[in-house]
Amino acid sequence: MEFNLAYLYPELLNIYGDKGNILAIQQRCLWRGINLNIHKINPGDKINPDLYDFYFIGGGQDQQQLMIADELQTQKNALTEAADSNDAVFLAICGGYQLLGEYYKPANKDKVPGLEIMDTYTIAGNKRYIGNVTVNTEFSCNDIKTLVGFENHSGLTYLRGDTKPLGVVSTGNGNNAEDNTEGGVYKNVFGSYLHGSLLPKNPHFTDYLISLAGKRKYNDNFKLEALDDKIELFAHNRVINKKY
Ligand code: GLN
Repeated sequence: MEFNLAYLYPELLNIYGDKGNILAIQQRCLWRGINLNIHKINPGDKINPDLYDFYFIGGGQDQQQLMIADELQTQKNALTEAADSNDAVFLAICGGYQLLGEYYKPANKDKVPGLEIMDTYTIAGNKRYIGNVTVNTEFSCNDIKTLVGFENHSGLTYLRGDTKPLGVVSTGNGNNAEDNTEGGVYKNVFGSYLHGSLLPKNPHFTDYLISLAGKRKYNDNFKLEALDDKIELFAHNRVINKKY
């Protein structure tokens, strides 16, 4: 078995080591004998929505988001088809997450149009939220229902319509430091403010995403054998127990 992952604009949107999310998916597939083929998508490349099982877009400062916004608009139809019709699995972090919505309004600048894949919008606040975050989530492949990560954003994201939160914040700020939500979920599209990178310390969420892709591509009998996650969960629990 194998999966194909489109890594969107790695040269521009990859701050705080967000590439670590792809490495976590790749390694947890490899440990089960599944190959993950990573295809970098750079400005000017044309996305074929029938090729990919996963899409990843990382975080970036306002400047990179502005640089990539027009290019992303050229991919809007393909990425919308991937999300809406093909049920591909998306993971978007921070700046990339913001660009999945209707728009991102940076401070003192015009709105940056988003992909409108997720019914959200983001407005830059006048405060930067930086720090460790712990979240209670339902999106897990086992009985561990927490996510941990690190946030660094001034954007305030608001969920609308059928967009569900990835989880409820127990430590930190999450989407907007007001409604206690963190991240957004729409079909198989997942957005989050959690850097870290997110997936290595949250193996149960990584396997949840891989299982979604496996059931979609192969069949509902697709199963991931359990791994020894002692080290990953040691790191996870240090954040939960605030030993950082
Ligand atoms: N520029 C956006 C913000 O500050 C996203 C930052 C990021 O990707 N860490 O909210």
